[in-house]
Amino acid sequence: MIEGQLDYLSGIPAFETLMSLVAQNIQVTPEVKLDEKGFTHRVQNFETPELRPRVLFSKRALVRYKCQFDVLNGALVKKSAESLCAGACLLLGKELLLTNRFAGAAFIAHAFEKLRATYMQEDHVFEHMLQGLRENEQGALINFFLPLAHEIGHLERSQALAPADIHSEKFFDTYRINYERIWPIIGDLDYVGSQKNDQSPLFLPLLREEVISDWFAVCAVFAVICKTTKNGEFELLSDFSNLIMFPLVAAFEATCLKEWPSTHFVQEVLLATQCRYSLLIDSMRATAKSIFPKNHAEIDGAITEIVKLYKESLGLIWDCAIQLNSLIRELMRLSDAEVAKYIGDRTSSAQWMPLHSYLLDVLEDSKGYALFESNRIALRRALNSMVNFETVIMTDNGFIAIPKRSDAS
Ligand SMILES: [Zn+2]
Repeated sequence: MIEGQLDYLSGIPAFETLMSLVAQNIQVTPEVKLDEKGFTHRVQNFETPELRPRVLFSKRALVRYKCQFDVLNGALVKKSAESLCAGACLLLGKELLLTNRFAGAAFIAHAFEKLRATYMQEDHVFEHMLQGLRENEQGALINFFLPLAHEIGHLERSQALAPADIHSEKFFDTYRINYERIWPIIGDLDYVGSQKNDQSPLFLPLLREEVISDWFAVCAVFAVICKTTKNGEFELLSDFSNLIMFPLVAAFEATCLKEWPSTHFVQEVLLATQCRYSLLIDSMRATAKSIFPKNHAEIDGAITEIVKLYKESLGLIWDCAIQLNSLIRELMRLSDAEVAKYIGDRTSSAQWMPLHSYLLDVLEDSKGYALFESNRIALRRALNSMVNFETVIMTDNGFIAIPKRSDAS
């Protein structure tokens, strides 16, 4: 693959369809460049009208989205906030470790008290996503193109396409109606104050722009799926749920995978998510009905399921954010030596090997992160001190660890 080129997408029908749909609607085809190094997607606009707007499509952000999607989806299937919390610890732990904070290892060890995971390198996750695209798999198409379409949705021309209600004063009602709906989960919140605070996810111009980008993305990707899917292979319910995951994954990242989110901030994010969702669900229903005029009952049935699923997800994210909040208070304060002790005290012997290899695999995947050599050495030293065996012999049904001699510490 040549860096910065999306050549590998050129043979994929869904990409061609998406770009021609975009061109039809905003009269310009943005230049899409794969960004190998950046951590977030970005849009560049140029003063000169001859230059097309450019979307820097971050490989890392895509991979992050896919991993967060899988964790949230898995927890939803189990209907378990504990499972979501364990998955969040793996993801947060990795980010911390790769940004030179050893507390990350403690988060991963905490997750290993509840599960056993194998680390997948970012390049492999990305390759896996591409494979799904090549096979025209609907879930893969949605997970890949929704973030891209959302970024294109941030362009001025895309924003201008939004329904008049979103641009009008009526948008204020969105806050009130959704606050009433979400109050049983988040409790009291002064959202009117947040609307005027430019640091808040509820800041009016910001939320409006995000809502429109979501709306643009869902309409575009939904149309792409319809156009590139053969008759009879359309999976209404699973496509709807993949689409609706987009604002949910964003909420999961903002509330559970950041270092110090306050409860107030978590409330703001979830209300913002609720507002994004309420507009999405209406446009999904309307778009589906216009594309499939004969299937109204089926569409209504699928939407009812989605409403239920969405409500459960929001509850899980709230519970997970509260649990993580206290865990973050506990673990982020630990010194390097305390992290090593925390891991030693809590890891069962059966989990030693899997945890140890997981931590090493995270370190191995540090390409592009500024992992300081001194920190890398310190982390390896901490890992070594945790290992209480000299050598390991793999057998058919597990492994045998030969204990370290007492003088070998
Ligand atoms: Zn956005």
